[in-house]
Amino acid sequence: MRKTMMVGNWKMHKTSKELAPFFAEFAKNTKGDIQKSHTEILFAVPFTLLSKTNEIASKLGITIAAQNVNENASGAFTGEVSTEMLADINIKATLIGHSERRQYFGETDTAVAAKTLKAQAAGLLAVVCVGELLEERESNKTNDVIKKQVETALSKVANLENIILAYEPVWAIGTGKTATPQMAQEVHKLMRDIVSQKFGESAAAKVQILYGGSAKPSNIADLLEQPDIDGGLVGGASLKALDFAEMINISNG
Ligand code: PEP
Repeated sequence: MRKTMMVGNWKMHKTSKELAPFFAEFAKNTKGDIQKSHTEILFAVPFTLLSKTNEIASKLGITIAAQNVNENASGAFTGEVSTEMLADINIKATLIGHSERRQYFGETDTAVAAKTLKAQAAGLLAVVCVGELLEERESNKTNDVIKKQVETALSKVANLENIILAYEPVWAIGTGKTATPQMAQEVHKLMRDIVSQKFGESAAAKVQILYGGSAKPSNIADLLEQPDIDGGLVGGASLKALDFAEMINISNG
């Protein structure tokens, strides 16, 4: 049985003074014991907040993730951060290949594959994101695009240890437009089938596949009900402690 995972992606938001009030409100409004609940919680925060957020959140049983990591061990890569640097500050997870990294910073499928391999080799939990553009969906290319992205992203790893997949249709991210639960389920199923072909049925049955794209308290229940949706990657709604706590409560049933 796959656990549910809810990942908040803060993108380029928040500064350190906001952390304590945020997590106090989040913890107060999350029902039950976060550490024992069915839902694993991650927050992917800006590099500047990783250490401080980790201190606060680890006491609550919440994992803190980076939003990106470089595929090289070290070197002349101005502005980049390595897996070793994340380990140095006790960070155990990272997003990889978020569509904003692909769209605005030129991250290719090949770079995503290299990052996925490096993260896995370093023992980081990697949330690897894929998703089609609006014009790709409208021209019926969704399945081909997802197939290529998933196959390439996983082309260098020998197994799925520490790898989580996230389906994030680009047209749904930050737009208020959500894929219907049926649309999302179709792509999640496709992703599980792709994984099954490469890594076998048992690996495919175990891998968690998250949905991202304008997920919020009002639509998360229907999304999580789908058999191949194992959680959410949540941008906007994760910036509001109350909204994200409500989503966790819904996920925990
Ligand atoms: C995201 O940041 O990955 C995301 C899905 O954002 P939003 O929930 O705001 O659409």
